[in-house]
Amino acid sequence: MLELRPSCEACTKPLPANSSEAMICTYECTFCEDCALHVLRNVCPNCGGNFERRPIRPRAMLAKHPARHEPFHAEIDQTEHSVLVERYGATLPADR
Ligand SMILES: [Zn+2]
Ligand SMILES: [Zn+2]
Repeated sequence: MLELRPSCEACTKPLPANSSEAMICTYECTFCEDCALHVLRNVCPNCGGNFERRPIRPRAMLAKHPARHEPFHAEIDQTEHSVLVERYGATLPADR
């Protein structure tokens, strides 16, 4: 089950469970749309994978399985991210 992290791990912008601009990688690293697609160029700084829009849990299910409250802040190493962008940036996610 997704944790539904409460904010962007890069810029700390709030991303509530019903946000339509939350994006995640397969490890659930969570970023706002601007950070995911523009700042990070669709290359996750932790795993090198791509981002997809986070699905929205229906309210009834959210009452049973609430979103995470504590922020999850990733330390992004710009040098390491540059290496990942170099390696994966021009490659389709399915071929990374
Ligand atoms: Zn952000
Ligand atoms: Zn990732």
